Amino acid sequence: MIYKAADILKECEEKKSSIGQLTREDEASSGALTAQQLDANMKEVLAIMADSSSLGLKKEVFSLSGMTGGSAKKLWNHRKEASLSGEFILSAMARALSTSEVNASMGRIVAAPTAGASGILPAALMSAKEKLSLNEDDLVLGLYTAGAVGKIVAISATISGADGGCQAECGTAAAMAAAALVELMGGSPQAAFHAASFALIHIMGLVCDPIAGFVEFPCSLRNASGIVNAFISADLAMAGLTSPIPFDEVVEAMYQVGRMLPEALRETALGGIAATPSARALEEKYLTKNK
Ligand code: SF4
Repeated sequence: MIYKAADILKECEEKKSSIGQLTREDEASSGALTAQQLDANMKEVLAIMADSSSLGLKKEVFSLSGMTGGSAKKLWNHRKEASLSGEFILSAMARALSTSEVNASMGRIVAAPTAGASGILPAALMSAKEKLSLNEDDLVLGLYTAGAVGKIVAISATISGADGGCQAECGTAAAMAAAALVELMGGSPQAAFHAASFALIHIMGLVCDPIAGFVEFPCSLRNASGIVNAFISADLAMAGLTSPIPFDEVVEAMYQVGRMLPEALRETALGGIAATPSARALEEKYLTKNK
C-alpha cells in the first residue's frame, strides 16, 4: 500500500497510469476484495452521494436540532437568477449544502473524509458528471483518486477537526475533490497533486468552531465554499500552474498548523464563530429546546 504522494507519482510514472487506476490496482492487490468487488462498493458510495447531494434540492431538509436547514433549496431555486458566480457554481454549492443538511438531519451520507466535510466530494462528482458528460465508471475512478488523497492526509496527518481544525476536514475534502476533478478532466497525476496542494494551501489555518458543537454552522457554509475551492484549485492546475511545495510537505505543514491551533479552535465550541454573542444565544435556544 502506498501512502505518500511522491511514491504514488513515481508508480504512476512507471506504470503510465492515473492515480485512480493505480489506487484501484493497489487496493485490489491487498487481497481483501477483488477489483470488481471494490468497484461495486464504489458504485454504492456514488449512489449514496447522488442521493444526499440532491435531496435538499427537492425539499427543505432541516437539522435534528432545528437550528439550520433549507439553504440548499433556496440556493438551488436561485441558480438561474442573475448572479456573479453563475449557474454552475451556484448549483454545485447547493449540492454541497444538500449533503451537509442531510448529515445534520441524521440522514445517510458518505464521510468523505468526515461527516462534517461530506458535502464537497459529492458536489464535485455530480457537477463534473453533468458538465463533462461523464459516466458511472468515470466517477468511480474519480472516487479512487479522491480516496488516495484522503488516505495520504489521514495517515500522514489528520482529517479530524478536533485534532487539526477545519482545514483538516474541509481542506482535505477539497483536496480530494480537486485531484479527482483534474483526473476527470484528463489532467496528469502531477497536476492532480498540484490541485490538491492548492486546495489545502488556500484554507490553511482554518479553524473548527461549530455553534453549540452541532455540525451545522459554519460547517455547511464551509462545504459550499469548499466546492468552489476544489473547482478553482483544479482549474489552476489544469492551466499549468504548479505548487512549489509538494503535496506531502503541504500535508505536513497543515498538520503542524493544526497542532498549533489552541483547543478553543478545535471543535470545542469555545472560540471563533461559536464564541460570538449571537452564537451563544443560538446555543442557549437550541440546547434548551433539545434537552
Ligand atoms: S467547522 Fe469543525 S465540525 Fe464543522 S465541518 Fe469544519 S471541522 Fe467539521
